[in-house]
Amino acid sequence: MSNIVAIVGRPNVGKSTFFNRLIQKREAIVDAVSGVTRDRHYGKSDWNGKEFSLIDTGGYVVGSDDIFEAEIDRQVELAIEEADAIMFMVDVESGITGMDEEVANLLRRVNKPVFLVVNKVDAANRLHDAAEFYSLGLGEYYPISGINGSGSGELLDALVAAL
Ligand code: GDP
Ligand code: MG
Repeated sequence: MSNIVAIVGRPNVGKSTFFNRLIQKREAIVDAVSGVTRDRHYGKSDWNGKEFSLIDTGGYVVGSDDIFEAEIDRQVELAIEEADAIMFMVDVESGITGMDEEVANLLRRVNKPVFLVVNKVDAANRLHDAAEFYSLGLGEYYPISGINGSGSGELLDALVAAL
């Protein structure tokens, strides 16, 4: 398989919401091999005629919102190995957390396209709050709203251009 894109980030930033938007009515395939403490959802999407496979890195303990930092790190390492491009999602509502910084540290060393996606920018007044994410040291970021779709066109243009 080629053109694999992984969405990584800590819980509750909106990865699955955006994943579901991108795959729309297509069926997500749950990776049953990975066991009860984590999951990875696979789906297909396309933009401007270019198809790609999308991985939603869940990573949660069933029945709990808690996740060990080590598990997020593991999901990021897997994504780095498996994917051709990575979307690293953060949340403008919560701002930068320690876990975001840890993931950014892993991704800064990666030799693959990494797209910093600042989610929950539902309205224009959130745009200037997004600027704090420059300090993650990953360069340009893409402000989006996974719920209403705004900003996702610019992100997807850049993504498929890199595939
Ligand atoms: P995940 O744990 O990263 O997969 O996050 P989810 O997709 O499960 O979303 C976590 C929460 O954030 C849910 O309550 C979503 O409805 C909410 N959420 C996701 N995207 C957005 C967004 O663009 N704007 C706002 N305001 N909330 C969002
Ligand atoms: Mg999720």
